[in-house]
Amino acid sequence: MSKNDKHKTRWTVARRVVQIGMLVLFCLPLLAAGWGLLGQVSGGDAAVATPAEGVFYGSLSSSSVAGVTVLDPFAALQVIAASKSFDVAWLWGALPVLVVYGLIRGRAFCGWVCPVNLLCEAVDWLRAKLGLRVAERVLPRHAKIGVAAGVLVLSALVSVPVFELLSPISAINKGILFGSATGVLTLAAIVVAECAWGRRVWCRAVCPLGGFYEVLGRVGLVNVRIDHAKCVRCDACAHACLADPEILAPALAGDDVIVRAGDCMACGSCVDACPAGALKLGVGRPRAAGAQAKGNTCDAVGAEGKGGEVSA
Ligand code: SF4
Ligand code: SF4
Repeated sequence: MSKNDKHKTRWTVARRVVQIGMLVLFCLPLLAAGWGLLGQVSGGDAAVATPAEGVFYGSLSSSSVAGVTVLDPFAALQVIAASKSFDVAWLWGALPVLVVYGLIRGRAFCGWVCPVNLLCEAVDWLRAKLGLRVAERVLPRHAKIGVAAGVLVLSALVSVPVFELLSPISAINKGILFGSATGVLTLAAIVVAECAWGRRVWCRAVCPLGGFYEVLGRVGLVNVRIDHAKCVRCDACAHACLADPEILAPALAGDDVIVRAGDCMACGSCVDACPAGALKLGVGRPRAAGAQAKGNTCDAVGAEGKGGEVSA
């Protein structure tokens, strides 16, 4: 691989490190406890009780960091709806996650942390190796916001946080740790949908957690910036987009200087794919280019792009 090729995969490599690191982080304490139970690590029965006393343990829905509970805000909303009560501790638990993803990008969770996205990318890789093509359907990407609202209503009606029971996200951890049949079946359904129906159908249109983070993502500060003067209109970025090719359209058409849609995961796949170096991940939310004369767009990008560029 040439130096230039390495440059072209830097965001993908960085994401892979984070995705796998998060998977290990959430599985390791519980695996260690299981090994303790089986007498495979020192401590025996005593080791079984240690995860709750460790520096970190838990799941992507609820975890304990140095004794402080951290909650997924959407899980907290489901618990509030299901229990029809409110505990201020839930708010404090969810606040750090809300602030972090609110500042970065809501769906950065999907691109950098969620194990289902990692699974879908593995399916993409396998399909490419096997030379299999799958439909790039136009999917109703905002439908997942409706699914998220429906999950909250249903949680209130049945008094159970329903997505927490069925979530394929926790199913991956359960599958790895306990060989959970439900988890494996849920994941198999996603893979079948990926292959038989369309690319990223779960992530783009169905996942309620993605819907929640899409709403939060509308205020994120990490954005893809485009230099229209460099763009050669090859569409490689749209083909590489993990979220939805449609979200790049305003920027590619010259109507905006950043990818503004709440669906953007700040994954950097488009940046890596661009052969002309026209895209960068940057910090800040410059005004839409539509407010400026289209002919001046490139100058505006050049001026605004200097301050907040992120280098990998
Ligand atoms: S626009 Fe770029 S950074 Fe945003 S989701 Fe698509 S590929 Fe990732
Ligand atoms: S990949 Fe780069 S050059 Fe091609 S359309 Fe996208 S921004 Fe333009």
